[in-house]
Amino acid sequence: MPGPETKQDSVLRRLWHEEIKSHWRLIAVSAFLSAATALAASGYALVVNILTKRLEAASPEILWLAPLLVMGVVIWRALSLHFQMRVTSRLALTICRDLQSRMYERFVRAEFSTIRALAPGDVLSRFTNDLSAIREMLIRLSNSLLRDSVQLLAGFVIMLWLDWVLALAVLLLAPVILPVMTRIAAAITRRATQTQAHIGATTNYLQETIGGTRIVKSFGWEREASLRSASEFNERLNLQMEVIRLRARIEPILEVFGGVALSLVFVIAGWRAMSGASDVSDFLGFIVALLVTSPALRSLGGLSGAIQEGLAALRRCYQIVDLTPETGGNDSPASSGDISLDKVSFAYEPGVPVLNELSLKAVPGEFLIILGPSGVGKSTLLDIILGLVQASTGKVALGDHVQSADRLTNWRKSFAYVSQQTLLFEGTIAENLRMADATASDEAIWFALEQAEASQFVRDLPLGIEENIGPGGHRLSGGQRQRLAIARALLKPAPVLVLDEATSALDADTEQAVIAQLKALQDRTVLLVTHREDLTHHATQVIRLSRPQQN
Ligand code: ADP
Ligand code: MG
Repeated sequence: MPGPETKQDSVLRRLWHEEIKSHWRLIAVSAFLSAATALAASGYALVVNILTKRLEAASPEILWLAPLLVMGVVIWRALSLHFQMRVTSRLALTICRDLQSRMYERFVRAEFSTIRALAPGDVLSRFTNDLSAIREMLIRLSNSLLRDSVQLLAGFVIMLWLDWVLALAVLLLAPVILPVMTRIAAAITRRATQTQAHIGATTNYLQETIGGTRIVKSFGWEREASLRSASEFNERLNLQMEVIRLRARIEPILEVFGGVALSLVFVIAGWRAMSGASDVSDFLGFIVALLVTSPALRSLGGLSGAIQEGLAALRRCYQIVDLTPETGGNDSPASSGDISLDKVSFAYEPGVPVLNELSLKAVPGEFLIILGPSGVGKSTLLDIILGLVQASTGKVALGDHVQSADRLTNWRKSFAYVSQQTLLFEGTIAENLRMADATASDEAIWFALEQAEASQFVRDLPLGIEENIGPGGHRLSGGQRQRLAIARALLKPAPVLVLDEATSALDADTEQAVIAQLKALQDRTVLLVTHREDLTHHATQVIRLSRPQQN
């Protein structure tokens, strides 16, 4: 993934500016409800203080005051807890939804060369696994950050008010506890980042082998595949356990801290009682305040673990958001079918040229065959023509319109493409074809199927073009899929048709028929890439690629 590692505070700042800030209305409501919940908890301490005073005075008031005050506080807290949870969850889920949409949009708009270098499974796990770590962080942040801080603060104020000496004694423990907590947090961040990267790699492995069960089974790899995945899952368990071991340290440390505070309070109070000065109702109020405040502290401590994991995940998601987008240029259709390449060179790696000063020219009505052995750079040439990768030197043009890196999406409007690996999507035949032209009529679809020699088998399907072809089109044969891909390209109103070994899965007769149809396209320039010498007699022009001399 490109980009330097972002610092923790800058990720937090970014989270605030890009994700959270705009939801200030929800935040305000959530803050109000959090404060209400927190204050209700501190209210218990006051109620105990007030009621103990009445108890000491044996006042009959207590008979109606006790249920009134206690139930008042309870109902107040119950209601605010309920609404707080709903509001804060909505806040967190909304933020996640928006982040996901933004990630997806940035991903599909990113430069092809960058996208191609990423492992699909790893990207997928950023959308799923990392997003759920972020959701967890946001829910816990909004549920407890404000509520627990207010509760902590209110609790401490009440303790100060009831007995400032005891309160300050409790506060003195803070400098001991804080450095310990910071160290644990840093360790969690490191582990969490490792774990999430590992989950990405595992997801990729799963995706490849689950998608490729045909290969796994035909090679008898079931056992190896299961063993390998079991060891990946085990590795994941170990990494997760390391994070959990660290997180599990936090609460016990805070528990011990609470115990020390409680003992300290009793020791000081006992010492004061021995010297004669003590007030039971204030002391009891103080203890209740301490007891309702310490869970808030514990939950704030536990929060830091979830936050570290969430931030590590967020950093991985921001790497997707930060992918460099392709620029589209203006929206005018570049409709010329006169394609020309002028001395185009290209190398994936310096010193290993794939294309060397290649020139070609073709106009509508022409049927240009690009011929060459496998691995010579035919698909790469088409990638360059489509603007998916950029030529190192040389010029690609449609008419007098030169391809430039800043108007690529617009450039591609002029091309209809059939890739070497047929790619169809889950859905009906009509849906797949309408990717080429959303407004195409059923008649236009049937016509394109006719041209691609696909109408016969589609007509034989029970639902015709409304038939669902399954994930990736797996309910069709390789040759049927390939013809649908050709029909899809033919449906696109583009002047240049580009086909990469697109008839490789067809039987000889069907192939001849498809090629005859393509040759008959008078208003389009057809570029057909193949390694097969016997197809060249169809061509109006043949370009032969051979391996360039290496430097
Ligand atoms: P063809 O389509 O003619 O069979 P390609 O254009 O796919 O060949 O590949 C041409 C050469 O470029 C091959 O030697 C291949 O190894 C190399 N190549 C293809 N894609 C990449 C890539 N993404 N990174 C590095 N090298 C690549
Ligand atoms: Mg190829």
